[in-house]
Amino acid sequence: MTQYVYRFGGGVAEGSAEDKNLLGGKGANLAEMAAIGLPVPPGFTISTEMCTRYYDEGERFPESLIEEVKAGVAHIETVTGKQFGSAADPLLVSVRSGARVSMPGMMDTVLNLGLNDETVRGLAEISGDERFAWDSYRRFVQMYSDVVLGLDHDAFEDALEIMKEDNGFFLDTDMEASHWQALVAEYKTIVEAQWGKPFPQDVNDQLWGAVSAVFGSWQADRAKVYRKLNDIPGNWGTAVNVQAMVFGNMGDTSATGVAFTRNPSTGEHAYYGEWLINAQGEDVVAGIRTPQYLTKSAREQAGAKPLSMEEAMPETFAELARVFDLLEAHYRDMQDIEFTVERGQLWMLQTRSGKRTAKAALKIAVDMVAEKLISEQEAILRVDPMALDQLLHPTLDPDAKRDVLTTGLPASPGAASGKIVFDADSAERHNEMGEDVILVRVETSPEDIHGMHAARGILTARGGMTSHAAVVARGMGRPCVSGAGSLSIDNNAGTLTIGSRVMKAGDVLTIDGSTGEVMLGEVPTLQPELVGDFGTLMVWADGVRRLRVRTNAETPNDCAVAREFGAEGIGLCRTEHMFFDASRITAVRQMILAESEEGRREALAKLLPEQRSDFAEIFRVMAGLPVTIRLLDPPLHEFLPHSESEFADVAEAAGIGIEVLKRRSAELHEFNPMLGHRGCRLGVTYPEIYEVQARAIFEAACDVAEESGAAPIPEVMIPLVATRKELTLMKAVVDDVAAQVFAEKGRVLEYLVGTMIELPRAALMADNIAHDAEFFSFGTNDLTQTTLGVSRDDAARFLGQYVDKGIYPRDPFVSLDIEGVGQLIEIAVEKGRKTRSDIKLGICGEHGGDPASIAFCEAAGLDYVSASPYRVPIARLAAAQAALKS
Ligand code: PEP
Ligand code: MG
Repeated sequence: MTQYVYRFGGGVAEGSAEDKNLLGGKGANLAEMAAIGLPVPPGFTISTEMCTRYYDEGERFPESLIEEVKAGVAHIETVTGKQFGSAADPLLVSVRSGARVSMPGMMDTVLNLGLNDETVRGLAEISGDERFAWDSYRRFVQMYSDVVLGLDHDAFEDALEIMKEDNGFFLDTDMEASHWQALVAEYKTIVEAQWGKPFPQDVNDQLWGAVSAVFGSWQADRAKVYRKLNDIPGNWGTAVNVQAMVFGNMGDTSATGVAFTRNPSTGEHAYYGEWLINAQGEDVVAGIRTPQYLTKSAREQAGAKPLSMEEAMPETFAELARVFDLLEAHYRDMQDIEFTVERGQLWMLQTRSGKRTAKAALKIAVDMVAEKLISEQEAILRVDPMALDQLLHPTLDPDAKRDVLTTGLPASPGAASGKIVFDADSAERHNEMGEDVILVRVETSPEDIHGMHAARGILTARGGMTSHAAVVARGMGRPCVSGAGSLSIDNNAGTLTIGSRVMKAGDVLTIDGSTGEVMLGEVPTLQPELVGDFGTLMVWADGVRRLRVRTNAETPNDCAVAREFGAEGIGLCRTEHMFFDASRITAVRQMILAESEEGRREALAKLLPEQRSDFAEIFRVMAGLPVTIRLLDPPLHEFLPHSESEFADVAEAAGIGIEVLKRRSAELHEFNPMLGHRGCRLGVTYPEIYEVQARAIFEAACDVAEESGAAPIPEVMIPLVATRKELTLMKAVVDDVAAQVFAEKGRVLEYLVGTMIELPRAALMADNIAHDAEFFSFGTNDLTQTTLGVSRDDAARFLGQYVDKGIYPRDPFVSLDIEGVGQLIEIAVEKGRKTRSDIKLGICGEHGGDPASIAFCEAAGLDYVSASPYRVPIARLAAAQAALKS
């Protein structure tokens, strides 16, 4: 027969911290604390398996459970010497939920269970405190009516307020025994009126009611929502913990508190917490009374008067401190603890690993290695890579007030405030005047780049996580909220409307690119602080990871930032992004719109020197590290001119009439530009474009080799290849130019030619393609788009619902669709290596900065991942964790 009840306390521990799945976190840790001899009030845990069975069998309990619970109660009675339901010396219990992972405040708790009209008198007698007994009883009736009977709790609050008013009292502490007794009578009348039956007097009925309520709370709406938000499966179920009550409200030698063994926001190795003298646990949490500081130094630092526990109860505090140290040494992690002192006796009610900020996580992990509590490898595994994001960008002051107008996609992390501007030029103008601005656009396009750079942050109404705005903003490290659908921008009126709120240019907004929140006014931010612990952990991480970490960058500044963050090369330099500059985009447009090779070459001649000097600068910054340069891959819709003035600029540059240009632009219009004339298709139709780009690369490489002696190793990458023939043709163009340049310069450099794998056909034909490719770089943005058949620019409108409905576990443009897209990568890796065993393999889609995707890359045996500069540290840590776990 399956055992459903597990006892603990009084020298018994039928479970341990290992049993979280069965006993829930709280139950497992209570058993563990009992096992190591800490003072835990005796009790028992009804397992999560029972919860699952309860729901499977139509919310009924099996006969066997009734016997097991009886034995559990008998265990508590034996240890405490009290009797459940006895009028002489009554046992009172708490009934609490406890799932595998903590779901704070989501599920139910009942305290003081076992009180009725008889036992309350026994409690008064035994405690010698009538007031305490009746106060406990009224708390119980109120809590039970709310949690178990589901009655309207306002009626109870009102009755208490009226009672206080009638007696001229302000505080609960003014109430005497007789008042609480009268209130209990009042409460019982309310119960009978609302519930239609008297308040249950049988203590066993009370217990089963509470157990059912706790199991029932697993399926409460709020618990379901919490589970969904935190990826907690619904079939896990909760355990129920029934435990002897201990009282922190038995006078001035009693107390209750919550504590962390280290500071959860700074990581400082100092006890951190709050306590209340003469109070029950919920008083601390509910904030009815202001809790006091635990330690003398914390109290003094805060300039508070009420005595700390260290001062008011020195002996008990010393014992508590001993328990803190013991628990930390035992669990080898910072603990979050609940305790109660009953008439000088300390009782431990809960312990668990404490939640902490990124800063604290780093400090605690590094400190614990120094304290020899954990190994360096454990320290690496203790820090959530994504949490590092908090340290790499300015964050909103958590204590600041915020007026949230709407929420869009958290497209690029960090927070920023500034005046609203609606176009890139204004952004630049205001920036030059020293003003902070937020660039607000329906969507961004390449000609907004200078404005995006000048702005503190970017807000768009349209576009997903891999939209132009999102990708560019992440690359630049600018906070960005994209796809905020409730934004309505009227460029003519110069207004931004969100719901009923209308703002105009110059009004101040704050955006949080880490949460997607858009707020009115300036919300203060905290600057990133790369403290020593951060660097230490990174060095350890680098020591264990196998995957190399590169960056996606195209400006010398971004390259420099990425190197500071530890990038070991460039995995993707998107050359079209180098043309965003206002002076160049006109030449690019001239090239695109040209009707003849001659026209294109004229435009390319303007671009060649600019490209050459850009590449040279990047080679200098990267100082001999590998640099993958991708030849032009412009989705045409991002580059064609739109406005009259843009057409006028191109007309002037090309010496052609505007009308001719407009006709040509109309001819180039595509219905599906993402699948249109882009990538190597451009190079196939206009080889002179790739020829000139290759020339710029090799000339720059030779120049830098000449001046520094450290020869750059360019890796020339051909985008959007579907067939080997495309690559064969383009590789020939590159190789020819290389040979020419080397002959001209009298110097031969090492270089590679490879391709992106970003189309399913390329993955499937990888063995064939590898004959011409010296490396593959998985362009998982396009590979996701083309495998799923979901446009990366339009996905935001519906993908959220897909994730809500569990169709995809996460946004597949953020975290790799391992089942589908991952399979194509595995196929390509295997086939590519079959043809060319030493083929270099990397990933340069946005997934290269996502820890779950990085773990996949480790397993798939890639050589490197490439992430945007601000994600490089995240990728380094994630790669180390992946290596340790594999
Ligand atoms: C990709 O498709 O994954 C990629 C890196 O290229 P881009 O985002 O520039 O299309
Ligand atoms: Mg691509």
